[in-house]
Amino acid sequence: MSQVHFGHIFHVAGSGTVADAAASLVSIEDGALVIGDDGRIVFCGNRVDHDGALPSGADPTVFDHRPGFLLPGFVDTHIHFPQTFAGDAYGGGQLLEWLTLCIFPSESRFADPEYAERAAVEFCTRRIAAGTTAAMVFGSAFPHAQDALFATTKRAGLRIVSGRGIQTVGGDTAQPLLTSEEDAIRLTTEEIEKWHGADTGDVATALLHVAIVPRFSLSVTTETLRNLGELYDSVRERGVYFHSHLNENARPGTGEVDTTKQVYQVDSYLDTYDGKFLPGSTVGGKSLLGKRSILAHCVHCQDSELERMAETGTSIAHCPVSQQFLGSGTMPWKRTIAAGVNVAAGTDFGGGDEWLISKVLSDAFKVHISEPGDAGVSMHPAEMLFTGTLAGARALDMEDRFGNFDLGKEADFIVVEPSRHPPLDAALKYGIRSDDAQLAREQTLFVLLMGIREPAVTEVYVRGRRAELS
Ligand SMILES: [Zn+2]
Repeated sequence: MSQVHFGHIFHVAGSGTVADAAASLVSIEDGALVIGDDGRIVFCGNRVDHDGALPSGADPTVFDHRPGFLLPGFVDTHIHFPQTFAGDAYGGGQLLEWLTLCIFPSESRFADPEYAERAAVEFCTRRIAAGTTAAMVFGSAFPHAQDALFATTKRAGLRIVSGRGIQTVGGDTAQPLLTSEEDAIRLTTEEIEKWHGADTGDVATALLHVAIVPRFSLSVTTETLRNLGELYDSVRERGVYFHSHLNENARPGTGEVDTTKQVYQVDSYLDTYDGKFLPGSTVGGKSLLGKRSILAHCVHCQDSELERMAETGTSIAHCPVSQQFLGSGTMPWKRTIAAGVNVAAGTDFGGGDEWLISKVLSDAFKVHISEPGDAGVSMHPAEMLFTGTLAGARALDMEDRFGNFDLGKEADFIVVEPSRHPPLDAALKYGIRSDDAQLAREQTLFVLLMGIREPAVTEVYVRGRRAELS
């Protein structure tokens, strides 16, 4: 059914880069979003001008959210389903020890189907509460848990790209999560056949998609990487995704980056995902990079790695909340952006302890203004909004379908009602604003992005349909 929504609209229009975000910011204080029967946007503009957007005879349902806000749905490009109950895990320290002591035991509990089912419901509930309409979800090792995740996501009406976490090598606590080399490929192939595009039968219209997801290079072998390269090559054309971690913890000698380079004897960590995983970065198989590939963190990249990601269209999931929690450092914002690679936002829950992408953007602002010397930058609020919405849609290679309110796109949006979160409401009502109209609207967007909390996200729509778990 067609719909009309009234509210203060913010979005980053067009298809520019983060450098264009400020110039592409659209703010319509007394705005209307009109959605056709097919869930696509037919009008985004001033409320007084919306008449006539729908065909004559259409009888749309009208939702008046004023003085609330309408924003594009948040896109979380890195979040862990089997860590749904593992946020704020204490007693692990930094990445590798935290995985061994806290995360592997926690993820192993998903072997219990009832526990996994409970987690799937909780995970989707948290996503709706946070307004995360689309997500790249790092999956569980257990196929029954992935079935629960996809089925519950479908029931909730959310978008998802996910794949079972692949591990073929690991220590004692990782044992329940490991499979043989053969099973790693067989189970991943079965998941692709079962869930990729399963809701509509057509990848171009589906809300459900599958990714190939090795946890990281240290959790697999050269044989796994070779086999995954062959598998990915055979399913790339069907729009299957690739997802993993890269350059997260650079503790000298014993951290993730140095350990990976020692184990594989490669020049760069990225080489292990780029088919060059044999000693000396010799080619041993096919590349897993491309425009449907997302690598999380990328805090400590060499210039050559950033160049290669930009060249292949591989995106970065930037997760500053998690990077602070695990002491991983700060991804250099200006240098990374300057390399031309697309940077989107990720919560990395449970490495991160927040479900809200706006909290990730808020922490991004804080860590990047704190970078030393000339590297420090005060992110523009439009750049923050871009990173949490359109850049995410681009990272998922579905920018043509959602990410902003350009006409014809599928209507993914959230309603924010400040009155439901008094500190935000007060800051918007009584905070000072510039006499300059443009700066004033940017200040308002900044207050909004910094101040949104779950209670203020009152409605979430995917393709014009309310997302909810009944
Ligand atoms: Zn992660």
